[in-house]
Amino acid sequence: MALVVQKYGGTSVGSVERIQAVANRIRKTAQQGNSLVVVVSAMGKTTDTLVKLANEIASNPSRREMDMLLSTGEQVTIALLSMALQELGQPAISLTGAQVGIVTEAEHSRARILQVCTDRLERHLNKGEVVVVAGFQGVSSTEDFEITTLGRGGSDTSAVALAASLKADRCEIYTDVPGILTTDPRLVPSAQLMSEITADEMLELASLGAKVLHPRAVEIARNYGMPLVVLSSWSDCPGTKVVSRLPQPRSLQGMEIAKAVDGVEIDRDQAKVALLRIPDFPGVAANLFGEISNQSIDVDLIIQSIHDGNSNDIAFTVVNKLLKQAEAVAEAISPSLRSSPQATAEAEVIVDRQIAKVAISGAGMIGRPGIAAKMFKVLADAEINIQMISTSEVKVSCVINESECDRALHLLSQTFDIDLSSQKEIIANQYDGEHPPVRGVALDNDQARIAIRHVPDKPGMAASIFSLLAQKNISVDAIIQSQRCHVIDRVPTRDIAFTVAQTDADFACKIIAELNEKIGCGDVSGDKAIAKLSVVGAGMIGHPGVAAQFFAALAQEQINIQMITTSEIKISCVIDQTEGVKALKAVHEAFGLGGTNQVTVGG
Ligand code: ASP
Ligand code: MG
Repeated sequence: MALVVQKYGGTSVGSVERIQAVANRIRKTAQQGNSLVVVVSAMGKTTDTLVKLANEIASNPSRREMDMLLSTGEQVTIALLSMALQELGQPAISLTGAQVGIVTEAEHSRARILQVCTDRLERHLNKGEVVVVAGFQGVSSTEDFEITTLGRGGSDTSAVALAASLKADRCEIYTDVPGILTTDPRLVPSAQLMSEITADEMLELASLGAKVLHPRAVEIARNYGMPLVVLSSWSDCPGTKVVSRLPQPRSLQGMEIAKAVDGVEIDRDQAKVALLRIPDFPGVAANLFGEISNQSIDVDLIIQSIHDGNSNDIAFTVVNKLLKQAEAVAEAISPSLRSSPQATAEAEVIVDRQIAKVAISGAGMIGRPGIAAKMFKVLADAEINIQMISTSEVKVSCVINESECDRALHLLSQTFDIDLSSQKEIIANQYDGEHPPVRGVALDNDQARIAIRHVPDKPGMAASIFSLLAQKNISVDAIIQSQRCHVIDRVPTRDIAFTVAQTDADFACKIIAELNEKIGCGDVSGDKAIAKLSVVGAGMIGHPGVAAQFFAALAQEQINIQMITTSEIKISCVIDQTEGVKALKAVHEAFGLGGTNQVTVGG
């Protein structure tokens, strides 16, 4: 007998017939001897309809009253589903978030869960009742018992939080798609269902997976090691398992607010190769990394920032013992770049052995601006200069001087409260089994790129830029600091580029332009006509050639790469938005992810 938490989304409970079908499914699971807690969303498009109603009355309704309003949607579903279960002869009881004791911060419309009381749930479960709980809502911990909501799509998060608190055997998310697909099937019809994905991959694919599964739900599952499965409520197909590695023990108190960062890593065994002033046309990165991969050289970070005129810089890191080989490849390639018709400036290769990589990682950084800024600030206060920056959804990596590495590690672990003795285990404790180098491909069309030219190359610049953005609540996605150094009025400078949500772009440009008057950088420009294309796979670690294959697929379609940024399990390229879908199709195909199984989406 198992304790199972099931969650049914809005479409799955969108009508009386569908609620009855769900009740039948629940009854079956209960009759097999399982204890069940069921979390539900509001019926169909109820939440959208309520939002519309509010907007007809107020142009900017208060967040408190919005929570009061929106939380009613789920309350309808819990009552109806309990009745449907009772009609089938299955004992059941409905409870709101407050009745369960899903305690959250007092932040209306985006509350994070602090704790879930389990006493009342356990009492009902012990009586053999199915407990039907309203998703998406909680109650503030203050004496006022304010109703809060978790943010749109938050019922998934309610379900996993309940499962973790009850130490359930598994959490099942029933939805209107058969599981997680290798890419967006509306853009690429050959997208296939994945049978399994790791929680870390799922988080890196946030822009692909977020519609299917709330990233905060994945974060809780990962942090507490809760087995999670996403499956269709219309069929009996097994769906997609989201697997987590064995977590470090962690308190259930402060569930969603403790520890945005749970790892600090350093890697001293790194050397940098940079190709400067290489021509900016399709195929250059493919050519370079193709040769590198032919020699089985595994590259770690790859960074290409915004181009300057019609030339580009690409930098990458390798382990020290491969530096000679990597440098030779870069040297061998640069004459052909110099003699190409597009070449204007002299290409040059530089190498540096005295570098190290420091990185912070943690699922809690998603949607929480300011974590990267905090890291930059710590380094700046210690007068440690950052040479390169590369970020992904759940990781920020900085290249610094090797001699400052220990100091950086010490300060960062102190700031983020990381016990370094437990870190070794995390690294040793990788996922079991084999994982494909590329599991899925995501295209994000909702991002804009902002470029700041000629940022003085001294400690503290990145910290002040990204702290300011965080203060204004702007989440920054990929941050890339270029390799090239311009000397302006005898001050060495570098360019920094990053991406933000398109809706934040104008505001971000404006506040940086204001800051600029104080710190004296060059131009600030925004470009909304970009797309970010990412490939993600836990198996790409120690598997040379993935980047080369990615870039080659783009080159074959004559698609120019504007920026590149990487983490251990992800490679992202910024490209022109008009080429996004073409690029997505080509890359999905190049990694053999397409198939002929028609995956039906929608019920
Ligand atoms: N009903 C809420 C929404 O539509 C929560 C959910 O369904 O997850 O955002
Ligand atoms: Mg949802």
